[in-house]
Amino acid sequence: MGLYGAMKLIKNANLYAPEPLGMSDLLISGEQILHVSEPGFTLPGLEVEVIDAEGRAVSPGFIDNHVHVLGGGGGLGFRSRVPELQTSQLTRVGTTTVIGMLGFDQSTKDMRGLVGKTKGFVGDGITAYALTGATLRHPVPTLTGDIIDDIAFIDSIIGVGEISISELGYGYDSLGPGAQYIAEALVQALLVGRLAGKGGFLCLQVPPYFEQCLKPLFTMLDTSHVPINQMIPSHVNQTEGYMLDAIQWGQRGGWVDVGANYRPDNFYERSIQPAEAVTRFVEAGISVDQILISSDGNGAPPKEEKGEAVPSRANYGHVGSLHMVWRQLIEQNRLPPEDALRLVTSNVAKACHLPQKGQIRAGMDADLIFFDKDWQVDTVIARGQEMVRNKEILVRGMFEETVLEGLK
Ligand SMILES: [Zn+2]
Repeated sequence: MGLYGAMKLIKNANLYAPEPLGMSDLLISGEQILHVSEPGFTLPGLEVEVIDAEGRAVSPGFIDNHVHVLGGGGGLGFRSRVPELQTSQLTRVGTTTVIGMLGFDQSTKDMRGLVGKTKGFVGDGITAYALTGATLRHPVPTLTGDIIDDIAFIDSIIGVGEISISELGYGYDSLGPGAQYIAEALVQALLVGRLAGKGGFLCLQVPPYFEQCLKPLFTMLDTSHVPINQMIPSHVNQTEGYMLDAIQWGQRGGWVDVGANYRPDNFYERSIQPAEAVTRFVEAGISVDQILISSDGNGAPPKEEKGEAVPSRANYGHVGSLHMVWRQLIEQNRLPPEDALRLVTSNVAKACHLPQKGQIRAGMDADLIFFDKDWQVDTVIARGQEMVRNKEILVRGMFEETVLEGLK
């Protein structure tokens, strides 16, 4: 393949960049967008692969900022450890950039595995990053022994998380030191992020069931003045109490990250429907630019019924919930498509400091979704390569098929 063999011309795309640009042509060179133009763009004499979008809506690829790529779970015994996520599980739902993290189980899954998994995704053709740490241990486990060195020297690692505020662990309010540890980890990540040119942000888990929720962090913010937008509080719609604190958090200028898997119909009885949570934030005067959605996918916390965890049943979180909830925002007329798209593209790129991601314009990575008329994912391009075409998966992880078909 020569230099121009890697060029693709996408014609007749109804572009959402995410702002609506109308019918456009798009030239891709290698992994990047080279040019966006009016329809009718030609490159006489050059060999270019032409892809006709046939008027379909085309958006940036989705960025999922919270995924347990190595498999979460483990809270219900060794049998409850979730398997590793596979590349096509992400691409088939439009996710072309994933941020992976450890979760509850930091005994059998570690940072070496997480960084290796991240590199594997990149090898498959998508974009993947990792956060250093795990949910329930202060100080957090790291790859090199130190948050600062992890972010300074490991290319994949761009921040720290998912960390619980509570030093007692999930399901308990903090005795006090938890918020202080969050501030220390946050500032380490922030400062080294400047050196390494990375976001250095912190993905926050909040014990949502008692009185504290985000309150220890409001006190921490008042005393330390650390920048609120270096933290991403996760699945803020998990309970009404957390939601109320998250509205205040948003009113103070912070990101609010809605958890797509936290839904009453998905065994989180006390949660607020994610689409409803987005509407409540907008009605509370929080800018659409501050709202994110993530899946917290491929994890498996214990199921909750009547407000109690069910000790023998896990609840798997699908990465596809990100697209499902995003689509509800449009179907339920809560947001126009261009605004809904920001929650899963440009806002996330800004929150996680991924300057090549989340928008369609010259110089950005060529991560694209073509949608059908019902806003279902039709075709997906990641870093210039077609991963899904007309709902058919073209690129899979190396062992996706052999493992599944090996027993036939
Ligand atoms: Zn999580």
